[in-house]
Amino acid sequence: MELPFEGRCACGEIHYRVTAAPTFSWLCHCRDCQRASGSGYCAIMYIPQEAVTVTGEARYYTVSAESGNAVSRGFCPTCGSQMFIKAELVPELHGVWAGSMDQPAAFAPVVQVWTHSAQPWGALHPTLPQLPKAPNEVEFGRILAAAAHGR
Ligand SMILES: [Zn+2]
Ligand SMILES: [Zn+2]
Repeated sequence: MELPFEGRCACGEIHYRVTAAPTFSWLCHCRDCQRASGSGYCAIMYIPQEAVTVTGEARYYTVSAESGNAVSRGFCPTCGSQMFIKAELVPELHGVWAGSMDQPAAFAPVVQVWTHSAQPWGALHPTLPQLPKAPNEVEFGRILAAAAHGR
């Protein structure tokens, strides 16, 4: 992935610049992501906090995820575009929705999670590994290794 890269919301009020490769990226088919996106799944990359510079102020809405951990989704208060995720599980990382990237084809997910709640119309990726729910510690280690390998 070419660095730095940038992205923005639909109206341009929120803009970001990223100077480090994502620690990991995935497709999430959980019900919370489906509700927040209005779609079948969301495409997210998790980047070290210090490598993400945000211009403008996203508004955050927090839910208690099925795992019991708090997940806050950041969106543009003017145009409503979903932009960011802050997850209690990985507090040192800043989640960014791939669709907001200026060059979204550079997004490189390594796994698809919560396929247990994937919808029959929310196409699963044909080759990425699937996890029915959230990864356990061993699986998460594998995800980090696969992401590091792809960088
Ligand atoms: Zn906006
Ligand atoms: Zn999710």
